[in-house]
Amino acid sequence: MNAPVTVTQIQNWINGAAVPARPADVSPVFNPATGEITAQVTTGHADDVAAAVAAAASAFPAWAATTPLRRARVMFKFKELLERDAKRIAATITREHGKVFSDAMGEFTRGLEVVEFACGAPQLLKGEITDQVGGGIDAYSLRQPLGVVAGITPFNFPFMVPLWMIPIALVCGNTFVLKPSERDPSCSLIVAELLKEAGLPDGVFNVVQGGKTCVDAILHHPEVQAVSFVGSTPIAQYIYATGTANGKRVQALGGAKNHMVVMPDADLKQAVDALVGAGYGSAGERCMAISVAVAVGDIGDKLVDALAERARTLKIGNGLQGEGAASGDSGMDMGPLVTRDHLNKVKGYVDLGVAEGAQLVVDGRAHPAGTPDGGFFMGGCLFDQVTPAMRIYKEEIFGPVLSVVRVQTFDEAVNLINAHEYGNGTAVFTRDGDAAREFVQRIQVGMVGVNVPIPVPMSFHSFGGWKRSLFGDHHIYGPEGVRFYTRYKSVMQRWPSGIKDGAQFVMPTMK
Ligand code: NAD
Repeated sequence: MNAPVTVTQIQNWINGAAVPARPADVSPVFNPATGEITAQVTTGHADDVAAAVAAAASAFPAWAATTPLRRARVMFKFKELLERDAKRIAATITREHGKVFSDAMGEFTRGLEVVEFACGAPQLLKGEITDQVGGGIDAYSLRQPLGVVAGITPFNFPFMVPLWMIPIALVCGNTFVLKPSERDPSCSLIVAELLKEAGLPDGVFNVVQGGKTCVDAILHHPEVQAVSFVGSTPIAQYIYATGTANGKRVQALGGAKNHMVVMPDADLKQAVDALVGAGYGSAGERCMAISVAVAVGDIGDKLVDALAERARTLKIGNGLQGEGAASGDSGMDMGPLVTRDHLNKVKGYVDLGVAEGAQLVVDGRAHPAGTPDGGFFMGGCLFDQVTPAMRIYKEEIFGPVLSVVRVQTFDEAVNLINAHEYGNGTAVFTRDGDAAREFVQRIQVGMVGVNVPIPVPMSFHSFGGWKRSLFGDHHIYGPEGVRFYTRYKSVMQRWPSGIKDGAQFVMPTMK
């Protein structure tokens, strides 16, 4: 008789403990490299959100009253625990997302860096003071926590993106409800367990698993003060519109179509290395992936030839196996896509590009040789002669598909990028400082690289796009994150000797 198959149940985390959803619906979680179901995730309902928000609301007063130094000490401990469990976390990312292990370790590090930034809370929360704004009167400012805040996160960085939000929200004195992606939810519970082990009081951090039902319950819950969202543009716009209509502070980061301009004087090898890594790394499932190479002048033919050679020879496989797996390096350049549905969507875009008349120089639609059957694999694809009118140019594909658009001049390249609806990241590759400087000045994009293909800001700067890549006024993490998760209060004070002259009946002005 076969032993019954036990599939892990990934649950909610409310008030310091894992709890099942009510009622307990589930949806499958896959290992994209094999196609197997590895877990079932609870899909929560409005009741679950209500329970999580209630726990967060009752934990808020004590947490907000905890000194910034003590809140930061929890982060110091959390950092230590994350480092202890780095490989477990990276392996969990690879198992549910599919990116190769070394890339998952990169994701881990970029998340950890936000924890390191948050350890500086006492410094970050300092206000400003002006003494003697009037006789015997001092003015100063405070930043105070908002209350219960929520984070809604995408599948493509199941560890890093939640950590763009959680450490900063918590050290600012807020309590938190996370709604992670239902496609790779396990990291959310590792974070919850380690925060508890680090000494975070129960109820300060909570997780509700699920999809739209939970999101809507968050957006309509009167106790939720602010929502941070990262995901696709249509959902970001919906979150922003609904959240702000309900009086919440919202930052909603959306999709992208990132262009990399290759000037005729660029170092070709450097540009090709950058494009291959930024285009095909993580199977193109990065919001900062380069999906369009803009070849300026006569560099187009050489660029396409070099890219084609590299795209054809990408090493594709299970990110946890292969040569070097024991040391944590699978030796692979990219893994599978996250789900079969997403794989089919990306292949559909490649079909569309062919139908639209783009030249498919490298066709990765076939299942790559040597990859496990059942996994959601495809090879790298390269299109040349892509035009701005094509849907494969206009829309985010979010897969290993790189398009080359050819233009004659630097101005055409700048205008092309500025006309696109997205403005997340961009880069220029050139040896000419004047061209690079002008690019930085004129480009309508939130994050810009000069000879750097994926200019993701460090944790002590802030991350965010322009145009339809971000809805809201604040970029995420770094100093902008501190501003987002706090309310500014201005105080003007004097002590009783200052009012000894009695009541004043004219509008007060400073003398
Ligand atoms: P997604 O928009 O499908 O999902 C994001 C979150 O929204 C998930 O938690 C999901 O459960 C929830 N959601 C999905 N549909 C919803 C609906 N109809 N109503 C309410 N909530 C809903 O995004 P994804 O596929 O998980 O992630 C990929 C997308 O995220 C890409 O577009 C990528 O560019 C974007 N992204 C952007 C950034 C950035 O910083 N700008 C970073 C990472 C990912």
